[in-house]
Amino acid sequence: MVGLYLELPDDVQDIKKNIKKLVDNKLAPRTREIDESDEFAWDIRKLLAKQGVFSLPFPEEYGGVDGRWLTFCVVIEEIARVNAAVSMSVGCTALGTGALCFAGTEEQKRKYIPRLVTGELIPAFGLTEPNAGSDASGLKTKAVRQGDEYVINGSKCFITQGNIADIVTVAAKTTDSETGKKSISLFIVEKGTPGFSYGTVEKKMGLHGSPTAELIFEDVRVPAINRIGAEGEGFKILMRTLDRSRIMVGAQCLGIAQGALDEAVKYARTREQFGQPISKFQGVQFLLAEMQTLVEASRHLVYDAANRWDQKIEPITQFASITKLFCSEACVKVTDKAVQVLGGYGYMREYNVERMMRDAKHATLVEGTSQIQKLIIARGLLGKEYV
Ligand SMILES: Cc1cc2nc3c(=O)[nH]c(=O)nc-3n(C[C@H](O)[C@H](O)[C@H](O)COP(=O)(O)OP(=O)(O)OC[C@H]3O[C@@H](n4cnc5c(N)ncnc54)[C@H](O)[C@@H]3O)c2cc1C
Repeated sequence: MVGLYLELPDDVQDIKKNIKKLVDNKLAPRTREIDESDEFAWDIRKLLAKQGVFSLPFPEEYGGVDGRWLTFCVVIEEIARVNAAVSMSVGCTALGTGALCFAGTEEQKRKYIPRLVTGELIPAFGLTEPNAGSDASGLKTKAVRQGDEYVINGSKCFITQGNIADIVTVAAKTTDSETGKKSISLFIVEKGTPGFSYGTVEKKMGLHGSPTAELIFEDVRVPAINRIGAEGEGFKILMRTLDRSRIMVGAQCLGIAQGALDEAVKYARTREQFGQPISKFQGVQFLLAEMQTLVEASRHLVYDAANRWDQKIEPITQFASITKLFCSEACVKVTDKAVQVLGGYGYMREYNVERMMRDAKHATLVEGTSQIQKLIIARGLLGKEYV
């Protein structure tokens, strides 16, 4: 791996080394097949579960191990270096359960977390709707209280793992019975609940092997004890979930970019033109230098942001958006340059950089597009009255 030294705690370094060995030996040989078949890699999920990867983002009192966001981000980085789709699935473990961890009741945590930790339960995060993407607060899915239950109607789109999830955190509009005010509340909806189904599974540019599906709710009755947090508190909890998760998207981008840099350096050393390795041409050296600069800057941002999260250094919202914005845009640039270094071969399926370039683009769109990150950063800089 081409990289500069950046200090991580010894135990995090050890976890990084172990996961690197696992993904290099077991995931790398499966990567082309996963991309071409676009099928979820159940075998890899089992391996990662055995390694304890799914336990990392959860508190120890519910069976989690470590619990530091830095550790989880470093693991995501290593997986994404080899296969972004699989890193997406691991990342969803945290995104789909952030609300449960931050605002769930003791009963909810005891019910779900021990089975999330082992990888037995697959979670998903259901926020986006056909007419509510960047403007998440404009969502139309409704949850109406009836006695001890809520009845949910509506639909969600582009939900990672929506078709295979066992539990989904669903954002829906509720109406305050006294004031009539509408606001967002969160619910845990379990697979198999009558009226809950998935629709279209999307065909995507990249991230093959990470399914993205439509969710449909037709008179879905959910017990009121499945509500996460108080009624109307959902938006605040979601934003907290996204603050943490955007740092993880940065880690995923860092991994993809590092993978592309490694491929480009390896190729440039061996490919000969004009009687010498192309790495001897300054034009190629400059491309590699630009790539490494972006990778190292991304690494510093991700590790720093993850540390800030772990140490509860506030405000984190703006910093998480800076990390996500920089790393996702950097990842798109680095993978583009990697294809350039490989020339025509870089455009061919046979070489990994073609997949990496397709996989990279999603990161400028998910969990708030780059434009939305800029709005958040500007709001932090100027104040709410301007943005
Ligand atoms: C691979 C993938 C996986 C996903 N997984 C999930 C998931 O698990 N759960 C989930 O809930 N969602 C998921 N999403 C959805 C994703 O979060 C949304 O696609 C994203 O928030 C953008 O919403 P949109 O697609 O509706 O775009 P739109 O909001 O329609 O935006 C279109 C364009 O307008 C720009 N724009 C919009 N508003 C503004 C503004 N105020 N200022 C400037 N520009 C603006 C945007 O930046 C963008 O360029 C996923 C998406 C993808 C691609």
